[in-house]
Amino acid sequence: MSDDLPVIPHIIDGEEVESLEPAYFEDINPYTREPRARVALGTQRDAERAIDSARRAFDTGPWPRMGYAARATVLHRLADLMESKAEELGMADTLDMGKPIALTTHHDVPRSARNFRFFADHAALSTGDQLPMDTGHHGYSLFEPAGVVAAISPWNFPLMLETWKVAPALAWGNTVVLKPAEDTPASAHLLGRLAFEAGMPPGVLNVVQGFGPNAPGEALTRSPKVDRITFTGESGTGRIIAAAAAKNLVPVSLELGGKGANIVFDDADMSTAVEWSAKAIFTNSGQVCLAGSRIYAHVSVFDEFVERLVATAEAMRFGDPTHPDTELGPLASKEHYAKVMSYFDVLVEEGGTLHTGGPGDGWAVRPSVVTNVPLTGRMCREEIFGPIAVVVPFTTEEEVVGHANDTRYGLNAILFTENLSRAHRVSARLRAGTVWVNCFFVRDLRAPFGGVGDSGVGREGGNFSREFFTEPKAVVMAIDRG
Ligand code: ADP
Repeated sequence: MSDDLPVIPHIIDGEEVESLEPAYFEDINPYTREPRARVALGTQRDAERAIDSARRAFDTGPWPRMGYAARATVLHRLADLMESKAEELGMADTLDMGKPIALTTHHDVPRSARNFRFFADHAALSTGDQLPMDTGHHGYSLFEPAGVVAAISPWNFPLMLETWKVAPALAWGNTVVLKPAEDTPASAHLLGRLAFEAGMPPGVLNVVQGFGPNAPGEALTRSPKVDRITFTGESGTGRIIAAAAAKNLVPVSLELGGKGANIVFDDADMSTAVEWSAKAIFTNSGQVCLAGSRIYAHVSVFDEFVERLVATAEAMRFGDPTHPDTELGPLASKEHYAKVMSYFDVLVEEGGTLHTGGPGDGWAVRPSVVTNVPLTGRMCREEIFGPIAVVVPFTTEEEVVGHANDTRYGLNAILFTENLSRAHRVSARLRAGTVWVNCFFVRDLRAPFGGVGDSGVGREGGNFSREFFTEPKAVVMAIDRG
């Protein structure tokens, strides 16, 4: 490994530090396929060091004690700094995982800053319940910080998902150990530095770099000194983390995989349906847990829909993710590219039709549209996490609700219809954490966010984040009735 590469260290107790036994791994730029940095290879001992730092900051430091308003001031300052460094933060994710700069800088970074602003204000404005009792007692609720939060995040929306976890945890007075995905270490490191610049005390936000199994990720899930674990990633990893957390009875919030159904009814506005369906599966090269990857199009509009989706796919600007006009970059890593490419073999085995797409240059996959695959086959059932839209015809509403719900996942669903009653009726029947009607990816941070079945455990967002990142307490007082 070249010594000339910049180094991404851990951030523990307010210091940028090497691993206890200094060692590094390469951070690869998936577009150039060259290493772009050397990253501190954390071990379980480094994670324990970070947990101890967070523990001290929680047990004896000012952060949990300084009050919501003072914390909100620091968190807003951090959001200001993030906005002023949007280019640098956006470029960090773009170089780490190949997402186009237009998306990182103009979508992910502003949303990440908004995560801090929203939860800072939400915590500061939040009130508990008053419970006047007719028994001569008065009750009320308190929402006290939970303690040390372990946040383990994935590589597909690095900064955005890190801040979705870190912001509510900090706003509610917890201290945090963040472990970003090994493929995307850079933006988490920048975030940790900006937190100090914003005035966050040492130990409040620690960032430990490295891998999951037998590494910092696993250590965070096994530690009895951790009070909450919030994780986004694969369903299989979620199972392992839930099992580890169960040993210490640590509450977990798990946002896992998906295979989102996207239903295009015959009365849909076709331009809206095509535009949003393309965004729902091709944005970020389909590396989105919320991707609308199973498209069910009514048989009477099927051919038109497929034709227009293909035309939209072929018009997408594909290439260098650092170029401001690029809409689709490479996949995030060589391993992930190999996984997504293996589905083209599955497609052949299942006798499917590829209308457009297939491999691009390097580790890129072109936006692909597939039909003629069996409903019970792997193309329709497995999370591909790539830009491959599977389109299947249906005839009746009853039938398509059955198809949509016939999955082990249940993160989200999308439907396109101009019929108001159908929109409400079908939304209510879909087994999913979020349903979008005639749109996609619109998020109100107050809304519950999470999944059903293999898509997750628990919800975050607004008061749901408060429930998870605090210890809600009931206080009941006897009143002397005189
Ligand atoms: P993805 O395919 O999105 O990387 P993973 O579930 O493999 O999904 O990884 C998401 C995050 O979980 C990464 O930060 C990874 O290092 C971490 N991770 C993977 N395995 C474990 C584990 N056994 N314990 C804790 N963290 C893990």
